[in-house]
Amino acid sequence: MILVLIGPPGAGKGTQAKRLEDLRGLVQLSTGDMLRAAVAAGTELGRQAGDLMEHGQLVPDDLVIGLIAERLDANKDAKGFILDGFPRTIGQAEALDRLLETRGAQVDRTVVIDVDDDALVVRITGRFTCATCGEGYHDLFKKPKEEGTCDKCGGTEFKRRPDDTEEVVRSRLKAYHAQTEPLVGYYGGQDKVRTVNGMADIEAVQKEIDLALDAA
Ligand code: AMP
Repeated sequence: MILVLIGPPGAGKGTQAKRLEDLRGLVQLSTGDMLRAAVAAGTELGRQAGDLMEHGQLVPDDLVIGLIAERLDANKDAKGFILDGFPRTIGQAEALDRLLETRGAQVDRTVVIDVDDDALVVRITGRFTCATCGEGYHDLFKKPKEEGTCDKCGGTEFKRRPDDTEEVVRSRLKAYHAQTEPLVGYYGGQDKVRTVNGMADIEAVQKEIDLALDAA
C-alpha cells in the first residue's frame, strides 16, 4: 500500500505516520525529517535546503524527488510506504506517479488531515521535544510532569525546530495553501482522497484514518 498523508504543518501527519508504521508494517518516508538530517550533517543537500527551510519555503522539487527515489529503492522489500510531507506540489505528485509506475506500484490512498490555520499556529509555536529521546511536548497541552525533565527518559535538554516560530509558520501555511492544497483536487480526480477532521483529539483522528484506509 502506498499512502500519501496531506495536511498543513502541525496537522499531526508525523504522529499518525509513526503509529501507522507500527500498526500496519509500512515504512514512513518524511522528506522534512530527511532534509533536517541533511542540514544537521552539513551535506551539500543540507546546504542547499537549509536557508529555504528556515524561511518556511519549499525546497526545489528535484531535491526531494531524488531523496524519495533513493528511499524507495533502499526499501525494496517493504510492504508499503506512508509518504509524510511529500508530494507537496503537483510537479512532485506527477514525478511520484512516474517513479511508482516504473516500480510497478501506484498511490493507493490519500488522507487529508484538515485543521484551522489559527489552531495550527498555537500547536506549532508551542511544541518542543526531548533532545535525548525525541518525546514530544507542548507549552500548553502537554508539559513534562516535572518541569525541565523528560517524563520518558529523564533527559533535561529540550529542543525546538528553528522553523516553528509564528512568522515562519505563517509562511509555511501560505506555501501549503498555494502549492500543496491543489493536490486534493489532483488525487480527488482519481477518487483516492479521504478527508479527516484534524481538529479532533489524536485517538479520534486515528480512528477516522483507520476507517478511511479500510474502506473499500
Ligand atoms: P516538514 O517537516 O514536513 O514540515 O518540512 C519542513 C520544511 O522542509 C518545509 O517547510 C520545507 O522547507 C521543506 N520540505 C519538506 N518536505 C518538502 C517537500 N516535499 N518539498 C519541498 N520542501 C519540503
